[in-house]
Amino acid sequence: MIATKAYAAFSAVDPLGHWEFFRRDLKDDDILIEILYCGVCHSDLHHARSEWGAARYPVVPGHEIVGKVLKIGRSVSNFSTGDTVGVGVIVDSCSHCRACKSDFEQYCEEGATLTYGSMERDGSGLTQGGYSTHIETKEKFVLRIHPGLTLSAVAPLLCAGITTYSPLRYAGVKHGSKVGVIGLGGLGHMGVKFASSFGAEVSVISTSPDKEADAKRLGASHFILSEDSRALKRFKSYFDVILDTVSANHDYSPYLDLLGFEGKLMVVGLPVKTPATSPFALITNRRSITGSMIGSMKETQEMLDYCAEKSILSDVEIIPIQYINTAWDRMVRQDVKYRFVVDMNSLR
Ligand code: NAP
Ligand code: ZN
Repeated sequence: MIATKAYAAFSAVDPLGHWEFFRRDLKDDDILIEILYCGVCHSDLHHARSEWGAARYPVVPGHEIVGKVLKIGRSVSNFSTGDTVGVGVIVDSCSHCRACKSDFEQYCEEGATLTYGSMERDGSGLTQGGYSTHIETKEKFVLRIHPGLTLSAVAPLLCAGITTYSPLRYAGVKHGSKVGVIGLGGLGHMGVKFASSFGAEVSVISTSPDKEADAKRLGASHFILSEDSRALKRFKSYFDVILDTVSANHDYSPYLDLLGFEGKLMVVGLPVKTPATSPFALITNRRSITGSMIGSMKETQEMLDYCAEKSILSDVEIIPIQYINTAWDRMVRQDVKYRFVVDMNSLR
């Protein structure tokens, strides 16, 4: 058993607090990781506050994990002690369904095991995430990270990075594509970086006027305030792809109107209330709405290698774990530029 220090949610309403627990004994195909950094995703908050349904407490959130290998199980062959590694949103899947067999573990037909809040596949207990000192993960779900990179700024790639990289690739974004990104937060700022690195002309659609300069610095050519009806009119039927990263309740229809012929609204944001959609906005220009969930292990490794090659990192604010409740409040107020990352040494 591995003694682990963590910060956990004990209910939907109480602040996160210190918790110590034991992780399982190392299995043959497990890797024991000392966590160095963990990014703070809006999903952590949605889950821990039971916004998507009742969570099972205590919950240790965190699924943007970067650390060092402390120990490997007997059958582990691709990693060694001391390697720099990452763990993202999923830690297991059935491995035999059609999705798993074709490198789409995130769409596992039996349901992928999430890094926190999921029952382990052998029923031994709930998974607990990365706001903690250590984690054990099956080798197949561990990513290789280039050790020379700024690791705090790599951590958000494990969720915010892959969640935006995957749909933009799937939508075929390339040189000359016109891409809109709604919401300039953790996911949104990575979406802007990726779309512009693929050669697209990028526009940010935001509720925060003070983010315009940053949007342009990150690679956007246009900044559209979502309240500005005249600006929205100017961009009517303009985009090939719009990536919706908004965490709060909103309607899809005003954004659908911005899509041109066969334009795609790629949904990754997961608000609590189902967004309203107009069928008239959909039939115009034969538009479509497509959802996308993180990315597979293969695609996540591809994205990490791509980021290392192109020097793409997240813009982060590093915090000690003791600041986490303030960080969550600031995230809800849209006051994060653009990802909080917990320095896990603050727990040791
Ligand atoms: P975040 O950093 O909090 O960013 C969300 C952004 O949404 C904000 O920065 C803000 O952008 C916009 N926003 C917030 N409140 C708003 C409001 N009241 N009205 C309009 N816009 C608002 O969150 P995140 O970590 O990027 O996550 C975004 C969403 O994606 C969450 O719902 C999360 O659960 C989900 N998610 C999905 C997946 C997946 O696999 N599909 C993976 C990870 C996360 P502006 O200030 O620019 O308006
Ligand atoms: Zn996430």
